[in-house]
Amino acid sequence: MSIVASKLKVSETTLKKDLKELNCVIYKSKPPKVKNLETYIPILKGLKLKIERSMPKYVQRKSVRTLIGDILWKKVRNIVLEQSNKHCSACGYSPDDLSQLHVHEEWELDEDKILIKLTGVSLLCHKCHSMHHLDYTYFRSAEKDKWEEEKEKLDIHFMKVNECNQEILIACKRLASKEQILDKMPNARTVDSLKEFFDKQKQLQNAKWSYSVFNEMPLREEVISALKKKVSVVE
Ligand SMILES: [Zn+2]
Ligand SMILES: [Zn+2]
Repeated sequence: MSIVASKLKVSETTLKKDLKELNCVIYKSKPPKVKNLETYIPILKGLKLKIERSMPKYVQRKSVRTLIGDILWKKVRNIVLEQSNKHCSACGYSPDDLSQLHVHEEWELDEDKILIKLTGVSLLCHKCHSMHHLDYTYFRSAEKDKWEEEKEKLDIHFMKVNECNQEILIACKRLASKEQILDKMPNARTVDSLKEFFDKQKQLQNAKWSYSVFNEMPLREEVISALKKKVSVVE
């Protein structure tokens, strides 16, 4: 290693770092297989950049951002920008163009209580945010013929940020879609269970969802009173 480093006129640390990065972004068109998904879960939970399952239809377009309106959201955003020192919380990127930084809402859903819990807000750069909501990014992408290229770029970004290989990437994607399918379909698909399932989905779709807001939310009181104009809030 030291001979190679001196030939290339770089330090050994730089060489090691570059090799590590190269190793992370080897991207095979025939991706490795992931057999036992359960065994990957501890690693996946610790990743800096994760992929979220797409939200069930019944909670789409119910974000806090939409409910509280642009003016208040902008104030929240400014505080989050300051708190994160204008850096992406996953990859650390700090662009000059601040529109490249997005405030991401972290949610937990409680179907029994018909409750959307806002559990956190974090700052993510455009790339990390696109990867985090990969399904949504695909639906939103205008040029579907360029999707493969776009997807590859995001995949590579994911591996670089997480310093992981393609196997972990595949596992992460599989976990996201597994959670989504399990969310959507019953285990035993008898006529009765499916009917029950679809009735429940309809109920959830038409239900009046309440909200709760985590304690450290910037401008929490203002956010709650803005929410209360449209939905009920559990304090
Ligand atoms: Zn980022
Ligand atoms: Zn988001």
